[in-house]
Amino acid sequence: ELPENPMPWERESAQDLYLAEIVLNRPVDRVFHYKVPEELRPLLRAGHRVQVPFGRGNQFAPGYCVGVGPGDENLPSVRLKTVEAILDSRPLFNAKMLKLTRWIADRYLCSWGQVLDCVVPAGVKNQAGTRMVTVFEVGTADAADEAQQNDLIEKLPAKQRAVYDALKSAARPLTLEELTQVAGCGSGPVNSLKKKALISSHQKRMQHFENDDDIVHAHIQKQDDLKLNRDQRLALDQILTAIRGQQSETFVLHGVTGSGKTEVYIQAIREVVSYGQQAIVLVPEISLTPQAIQRFRSRFDSVAVLHSHLTDSDRHYHWQNIAAGKVQVIVGARSAVFAPAPHLGLIIIDEEHETSFKQETAPRYHAREVARKRSELERVPLILGSATPTLNSWLRVIEKKDTLISMPRRVNDLPMPGVNIVDVRNDVQIRRNESIGRVLFTGMQHALGAGGQVILFLNLRGYSPALWCKGCGNSVKCPHCEISLTWHRDKNLAVCHSCDFSARPPTNCPGCGAPGLRFVGAGTQRLEEEVKAKFPGYSCQRMDSDTMRGVGSHARVLNAFADGEVDILLGTQMIAKGLDFPNVTLVGVVDADTMLHQPDLFASERTFQLIAQVAGRTGRGMQGGRVFVQSSSPTEPAIVKAAEHDFLGFARLELGHRKEMLAPPFSHYARVILRGPQEEHVEHFARQLAEILSVAANEKQLQVQILGPAPAPIIRLKKYFRYHFQLAAIDVEQILQLWHEVEGKLPREKGIEYIIDVDPVNM
Ligand code: ADP
Ligand code: ZN
Repeated sequence: ELPENPMPWERESAQDLYLAEIVLNRPVDRVFHYKVPEELRPLLRAGHRVQVPFGRGNQFAPGYCVGVGPGDENLPSVRLKTVEAILDSRPLFNAKMLKLTRWIADRYLCSWGQVLDCVVPAGVKNQAGTRMVTVFEVGTADAADEAQQNDLIEKLPAKQRAVYDALKSAARPLTLEELTQVAGCGSGPVNSLKKKALISSHQKRMQHFENDDDIVHAHIQKQDDLKLNRDQRLALDQILTAIRGQQSETFVLHGVTGSGKTEVYIQAIREVVSYGQQAIVLVPEISLTPQAIQRFRSRFDSVAVLHSHLTDSDRHYHWQNIAAGKVQVIVGARSAVFAPAPHLGLIIIDEEHETSFKQETAPRYHAREVARKRSELERVPLILGSATPTLNSWLRVIEKKDTLISMPRRVNDLPMPGVNIVDVRNDVQIRRNESIGRVLFTGMQHALGAGGQVILFLNLRGYSPALWCKGCGNSVKCPHCEISLTWHRDKNLAVCHSCDFSARPPTNCPGCGAPGLRFVGAGTQRLEEEVKAKFPGYSCQRMDSDTMRGVGSHARVLNAFADGEVDILLGTQMIAKGLDFPNVTLVGVVDADTMLHQPDLFASERTFQLIAQVAGRTGRGMQGGRVFVQSSSPTEPAIVKAAEHDFLGFARLELGHRKEMLAPPFSHYARVILRGPQEEHVEHFARQLAEILSVAANEKQLQVQILGPAPAPIIRLKKYFRYHFQLAAIDVEQILQLWHEVEGKLPREKGIEYIIDVDPVNM
């Protein structure tokens, strides 16, 4: 029988034992130990990506090294496997990024390996845009003595001589193509020189990116910074104090739409750039419009823009340049918070209220909270800018955890636009199932007649959001989801906006068989048709995810609108943000109620934000601007306060409600969602999990409440039945602790999957 512990001679001495701590992209949050072979010891660092044997048999998996060092004598080292290879020439993470990613794993209940793997773009992993090439240089290891060499060189024929001289004067090793081009010859002379051992060749990984242009924009006309107004100056001064003091202070920059927040960002960035540091600017994906990008590119020499249309090799290229410190400003959506900037000086989140900063797949992090943590680790300030800050940030201001900076006025003393709430309950047009009521119609006539432009906002795409049966009173649902099908008239398809199921609309009700289904309600397609019919003399463009499928289509429409070729721009959320067109004198919110009546704890906050943001698109020029908000709930506080541009009033009211209910931001929720093919099983399993958590919370005396389980708001989604329950606690740590208590012990049920989402943005 073998002894339990290895015999002394089986054990390597602690000195010889060199171990790596490796994490893998699997849901289990665990560190594995591997031996590091002699030849890799001088190279391997924490932050490297490595290839390791994993599991039974001879399987390999990529992993991330999170620590290396001499082993512990007590580890039974003989049973450890060995690191196979290092996958990148340099570590992909420094110590701070390792800390940050570890924190995310803890805070959002996922594994460290999952986080690290999510942070590294695919293009970096597969080294997209690079290839191995042979390069040549002068001299070899096994060259003859100097006299002999000189002799050889002297007697070189002209072409070989040309090659030799070209290489000698080159600043770096050259590829065959480069060399033959410079020397003006074929490959023959190169080979001859190699045979004579006067030159040598080796393999090198080289980038062959074509669009170098994407970072350095020599052709863009540089512009001077604007002279700040008083509010902007005061804002900037506060931020500069924090930058100079290397403080990780968080500023909530509450500036009304058009108050000139971007100029403050730019001049704060100017300061850190002057120290040779980098700044990260996070914006919603939708704001990565040419207009916004241009504003940064015209002010800084090197700006990397990370948007979702980049190819793998673009992403790799940006990553390398950012890591090399060659980029001053990184502008991007959510994941840009992980940009590998070596000397970070400032982080900015513009439109911090946007829900797109939350990632909806594992790791389910919120970029704002990650930025907060990163700013703390790097000791740099964080700016959260918005005209409608989240109540989350606002509470931190009230509690004096974050610093408020207010910019309550628009630049150049432009007034805020006047907002009319139009009660459409008795409007004849609306009753006839049209979208544009009498008041909005007249407003549009006036605005267009005076040469102004119009923006119409409607939160639903497609033609009709419901196919309604008069017989049974039901609407036709997606066969896989519990969601009404939307009619897309252009293709005559009934489409599910959740799973993309589509079919010809039925002529008879699938429920009761009655003929004559009616298309009720209006989406952007139908609105477009109505606008074209009502305003035949004006050009109209629709902007939603159906019309904006192609790369660059967004830019084309916005340019046409900026140039005045388009009079009326209508669309979904896409048009609510960031657009700055001085000639827009009217904004119409076609249906303010759509957002309000969602069964979501945050519905009021969202409604307020959307109306305030859309309204902010007008009145940016000397002609002023008006806003018409059509609603059937005209006294709803979220709508009234948005119309009054009264964020403070809204925040006070809504925080009051939330406090009463002990809802976020006064507490934290984590949502557990389960799904499976059979409803009873899913429900049963949900009860089982909730019970286990509830018992554990009692046992460990954790102040966590379990709410539910209940059917998820959309109980059927993509063929699966869904149930959910919430863990609620004042202190999020209690939720995290509870989950850690039970995690390894939770039962598994065949066919049922579940996830946990900490601080969900939709509830
Ligand atoms: P916000 O982001 O707060 O909505 P913007 O940054 O878009 O506001 O600024 C609105 C407009 O005001 C922009 O066209 C910008 O160029 C202009 N602007 C900003 N600051 C100044 C300034 N100090 N002087 C003149 N114009 C300014
Ligand atoms: Zn569906």
